[in-house]
Amino acid sequence: MSRSAHPAGPRHADVLPEGHYSAPPADLNSLDPKVWSQTVGRNADGVATVGGLDVTALAEEFGTPAYFLDEDDFRARCRAWAEAFGKDADVFYAGKAFLSRAIVRWLHEEGLNLDVCSGTELATALSAGMPAGRIAFHGNNKSEDEILRAVEVGVGRIVLDSFQEIVRVAHIAHSLGKRQRVQIRVTVGVEAHTHEFIATAHEDQKFGIALAGGQAAEAVRRALKLDGLELIGIHSHIGSQIFDMAGFEVSARRVVQLLAEVRDEHGVELPEIDLGGGLGIAYTSDDDPREPHEIAKALNEIVSRECEAAGLRTPRISVEPGRAIVGPSAFTLYEVGTIKPLEGLRTYVSVDGGMSDNIRTALYDAEYSVALVSRTSDAEPMLVRVVGKHCESGDIVVRDAFLPADLAPGDLVAVPATGAYCRSMASNYNHALRPPVVAVRDGEARVIVRRETEEDLLRLDVG
Ligand SMILES: *Cc1c(COP(=O)(O)O)cnc(C)c1O
Repeated sequence: MSRSAHPAGPRHADVLPEGHYSAPPADLNSLDPKVWSQTVGRNADGVATVGGLDVTALAEEFGTPAYFLDEDDFRARCRAWAEAFGKDADVFYAGKAFLSRAIVRWLHEEGLNLDVCSGTELATALSAGMPAGRIAFHGNNKSEDEILRAVEVGVGRIVLDSFQEIVRVAHIAHSLGKRQRVQIRVTVGVEAHTHEFIATAHEDQKFGIALAGGQAAEAVRRALKLDGLELIGIHSHIGSQIFDMAGFEVSARRVVQLLAEVRDEHGVELPEIDLGGGLGIAYTSDDDPREPHEIAKALNEIVSRECEAAGLRTPRISVEPGRAIVGPSAFTLYEVGTIKPLEGLRTYVSVDGGMSDNIRTALYDAEYSVALVSRTSDAEPMLVRVVGKHCESGDIVVRDAFLPADLAPGDLVAVPATGAYCRSMASNYNHALRPPVVAVRDGEARVIVRRETEEDLLRLDVG
């Protein structure tokens, strides 16, 4: 990410510290549509709105912190992905990004499939009526109970992640008199993050079976022999928050190479490949993500070209976006508490949540943006760090950003693009009560995951 350490423009201190920030935006009141969901704007009083509802009323009704999910935005992204890939491909939403029963129903209505990675994600999906045949089951250490349940209900595919699992799934399916559709997850030696990818030495990780050293070919050999399994294809997932298609290109080429080897050795053309998820979104105005139709076009071209070169029929492609669908659809609303200006450094703005509702900044140094949303302001920009209320100095929500210098306790600020990996990774650290997810659409707000209560928390404490 190209960010200058020494921004130009108004300053609240003589010397600005090193940091990951660009110059303050020209207008602190503007809500960049790149990072905010599509129905977000400001009303005549300058209060931010989503789905036609203003955030001060939402805070009053639902409290803070809270996640507000723009249902129209979510559904529009589902449709954009489904349309971009068309009927000859499958889009699986990666449920781990954020999963709830409402989400499952919307996915079903919009024609998407669903990835789950645990028995309880599977249970959530089934309880909201997702047909089992449209669910893919992932994970590097699925338990026998999880596999049994997945095979029993008839999930559309299980993505096999190890040699043990090949045998385990085959055995369970066989004992139930079933033949389970499976893919084999391979590691292609590519790891991609954001703008870069590294094409060597990334077999050193817990997921998948390496193409290197013929391991993946051996996995195919074993899977084809077992009558509990119907091997339908090869799966590869190379990373997350990726902007550069070059990593997918290498991955697709290596997966197609394996398909060609499988054809040469076994006379079988596996009918499917899955290229995983990981497509990036804009967390700040500096990020430039690709549209689903550009991604679909690029992936389809890469796969057809490689297949043609290898003399293979083009397999059915699937992709698994999580973040790219739900990430931009939600923001987190916080109330400002204490404000601490540190002369010559930055101003620490504490909000009423923190690492318990957004661990990504602490975990991966993720970048976010933030805006004052309960009013507009003409005050000059001040460099802030938005922090939570937890007992860790790493409890940072937004590392470096600008907010108006007249910010005061009681103001509402919002952090956009928190739909993915925030509520789903939320914790009870400091016995924080996990915030609700409120779906907003056409002037109506509806709680889809309620706020945790003290009672919920104490109910688990049976000592
Ligand atoms: C996490 C994951 C995804 C989704 O990743 P995003 O970055 O949310 O798009 C897709 N497939 C697999 C196998 C994953 O582990």
